[in-house]
Amino acid sequence: MLKACYSPRYFAKTHTNSMEKLTAVADVLRTEKMVELIDPGIIDAEILKRLHHPQFVEAFLSGETAFATIQGFKPWNEQLRDAILSVQAGQLIGAEIALKEGIAANIAQGFHHASYESGAAYCTFNGLALVAKQNPEKRIFILDCDQHGGDGTAIFTNRMTNLINFSIFGIRFGCKAGERSLTRYIHPKQGNFDLYREAVFEAFQYASRWETDLIIYQAGMDCHQHDKYGSKWFTTELLFERDRIVFEMAKKMKIPLLFVLAGGYQLLDDLVPLHVNTFKAANEIYFPKKG
Ligand SMILES: [Zn+2]
Repeated sequence: MLKACYSPRYFAKTHTNSMEKLTAVADVLRTEKMVELIDPGIIDAEILKRLHHPQFVEAFLSGETAFATIQGFKPWNEQLRDAILSVQAGQLIGAEIALKEGIAANIAQGFHHASYESGAAYCTFNGLALVAKQNPEKRIFILDCDQHGGDGTAIFTNRMTNLINFSIFGIRFGCKAGERSLTRYIHPKQGNFDLYREAVFEAFQYASRWETDLIIYQAGMDCHQHDKYGSKWFTTELLFERDRIVFEMAKKMKIPLLFVLAGGYQLLDDLVPLHVNTFKAANEIYFPKKG
């Protein structure tokens, strides 16, 4: 059965639904018996201080300065702090399971806008770069299919040679190309799924050539046609197809994969089924029903 890191601690009430959707998704997955949920515990803050500027980590832990809410979640509270610390533990445990078993999930976002000095755009600590930092002997390839580019992750690729970021996005929102930061822009109106699929294939070619040990797949749902940031051609069916292709390629190429939820800005009733679909696609590919 597909293993997914999650804890009720992931839930946090903020002015957006972004930390509430995690629990909403996990509840469906539990009811439908689609995953085995694994509580990852809470990360040791010292680990985060190796990834981010220690002062920024301290500020977030104490909630004392404006730095603590720089990512946009206001006001700071202990529930949010514990949610973020649990989610980051889930990244590391999820990566460990994926490396061992080939596939795993963390029912959380990768927080790809967070850079070394600070959080940004509802991303506190970068859980994608975290895996590379904690596994220096492994080559970590981020396949970022959020509608926004992973600018924070791109900055981290300059600090770690075992990290590559490959962003496929439809909004030109600060994702720089660089030596280990690759970007593919697919136009939200004039683009189409053929171009998107091609970009995904290209990502896998890179991942394979680079002898990637682990792919972390950001299965963003803000590309959906009804999302305020979405691409008008990106239907629910095509998003499912995207997820299916990613899982199929990773499985065929025998590259372990950890997947996370990433962005999505519709009401929970519309958004949760989209995220649940990613788990459905993973189950179809990795745990097909016999008969
Ligand atoms: Zn996004």
